[in-house]
Amino acid sequence: MKNTLKLATYFGIPVKIHFTFPLILLAFGMEGWVRGGVVEALRGTLLVLFVFVCVVLHELGHSLQARRFGIGVRDIVLLPIGGVARAERIPENPWQEIAVAIAGPLVNFALATVFFVVVWIKGTGLDFEDGFFSSLLLINLVLGTFNLVPAFPMDGGRILRGLLATRMPYLRATRFAKDIGQLIALFFAVVGFLYTKLVMLPLIAVAIFYGAINEEKMIHARLRIRSTSVEDELADDRGSADEQSWR
Ligand SMILES: [Zn+2]
Repeated sequence: MKNTLKLATYFGIPVKIHFTFPLILLAFGMEGWVRGGVVEALRGTLLVLFVFVCVVLHELGHSLQARRFGIGVRDIVLLPIGGVARAERIPENPWQEIAVAIAGPLVNFALATVFFVVVWIKGTGLDFEDGFFSSLLLINLVLGTFNLVPAFPMDGGRILRGLLATRMPYLRATRFAKDIGQLIALFFAVVGFLYTKLVMLPLIAVAIFYGAINEEKMIHARLRIRSTSVEDELADDRGSADEQSWR
């Protein structure tokens, strides 16, 4: 990814920010400033920074789990809309794919528990409007839950594909998961337009819709590459080569 700046390296994995990343800090800082001056501006910016620390931890969850299965992770990139952990490949063993995908949301649920304990120790009670740690608790619950929505490119989409792939060929599982994801995208779009004023929902719907198509294309391309090399190397093992080039 171009236009990135390396911030730090954790567990040997470089964490980078995209040049557009400061925009989100600026946006939340401005929003706070308009609402309540300098104090609110600082609070808004600090909250976003904390959220992105949580995002890095989420991505590290995926990355470290992937590495356990011998999959190299190139880097973690932070964008205004979230983070991406870029690995050499996606595990094809369904159970490994499920384990890597679920590791991210599990980190958010663990963080939510930590923030719950912090609020409890402080004795201030839960306050999702103004409480800093209460907000972080809520945000982590939302991040964890939202990522489990069974639609590509969300973690839930990969978990669903993994579960399906335990019972059917990989490409069919991908297609099936893609169809379910697109139905969910449609649902988000309709609900977003008709019943809420959340501009985010239709936007997320579009992202899911194209995410689903991309995932299928990627798997297609990978299987095509593989089936040629398998054919070259194992000319006698035609059965498996054919099996890997489903339409
Ligand atoms: Zn994730």
